[in-house]
Amino acid sequence: RGMSSVTIPPPACMLRPLEAPFRYLFGPGPSNVPPRILAAGGRPIIGHMHSEMFGIMNDIKKGIQYAFQTSNNMTLAMSGSGHTAMECAVFNIVEPGESVLVAINGIWGERVAEIAERMGMKLIIKIKPAHSFVILHILQALAKHKPVLFFLAHGESSSGLVHPVDGVGDICHKYNCLLLVDSVASLGAAPLLMDQQNIDILYTGSQKALNAPPGTAPISFSERACHKMFNRKTKPVSYLLDMTHLSNYWGNDGKPERKYHHTGPVSGFFALRESLAILAEMGLENSWSHHTEVAEYLWKGLEDLGLKLFIKDKDLRLPSVTTIAIPEGYDWKELLAYIMKHHQIEFTGGLGPSVGMVLRIGLMGYNCNKANAAMALAALEDALKQCRKSKA
Ligand code: PMP
Repeated sequence: RGMSSVTIPPPACMLRPLEAPFRYLFGPGPSNVPPRILAAGGRPIIGHMHSEMFGIMNDIKKGIQYAFQTSNNMTLAMSGSGHTAMECAVFNIVEPGESVLVAINGIWGERVAEIAERMGMKLIIKIKPAHSFVILHILQALAKHKPVLFFLAHGESSSGLVHPVDGVGDICHKYNCLLLVDSVASLGAAPLLMDQQNIDILYTGSQKALNAPPGTAPISFSERACHKMFNRKTKPVSYLLDMTHLSNYWGNDGKPERKYHHTGPVSGFFALRESLAILAEMGLENSWSHHTEVAEYLWKGLEDLGLKLFIKDKDLRLPSVTTIAIPEGYDWKELLAYIMKHHQIEFTGGLGPSVGMVLRIGLMGYNCNKANAAMALAALEDALKQCRKSKA
């Protein structure tokens, strides 16, 4: 075996067993995954092109249509996290030279603006986090900039704000613009009706209220969006995210045969199917009211601890992710570290523009119940006693 030329030895870490502790994931995601979904993801895999797999993908499509409240044929799940859906939407809809209007009230608008900017297009309307956009301002910006796409985050998880969507689709369509909505943090937790609210492209993630492992992202396109994306002059910059191929892979293009495009995450799709099944069994309205009820219990408990909620207007608070103004006299990183160390609970700090301004508690789907809210409150109460820096 003179040819043996391995010079890098097996790493010592690889000769030790995998260690992943149990944690209460009460941050903005991923959320804890219930045993039923873990079990679905742990089933023996089948080929990504087997007829049974196509059947499961068809089920997923139906489950997403229910969760989004849409009858759009162009409904599928991305092989990738929420960002994959963001890029898929922008890459497929917008052509070079066209413009995108992005409502920025937290990190997700910033992200979509960066994605669009990398394609050489950007136009922004920006307001402070914890605020919502006024329809009139959106209308003025649409009239002025004539974008082909307008982005709005329904659930801005960095600021904990749920944005009203009613009426936005109508004004977009008046200006021949498509409405793209991010529901990664809000789907299943706050009411959203894709067809009734005239949303053209809607996406979410698997790892929030759906409680599946991270790595798949439901997305749906209206007829109007399909018309734009399938009549473009140039090909989208991404081969992997090209909807011409993905629509065939998902059996949405009317062609008799599905062709190989990429290998879908089989286990991830099993788990996603199960999470959509749980939502269908529970019912969307029940899921929404349940999230609201638990969130209100949490908000009350936080206020009883003397804490201030970051979003003042109750109607604009995202039920899945609650933002708390960092109390005076505390180091937010120390609070988080203490809670993780002593309670095995994950809360998080802010993200993007809200860093240093908020603590975030997420109670989503399986994690969303009063017992968990009480546990979160007790941990926070303990941390507030132990971590005080100054007499503020
Ligand atoms: N949008 C929102 C509102 C989110 O909360 C997140 C995840 N925190 C994303 C998009 C991005 O999703 P992912 O991390 O799965 O790529």
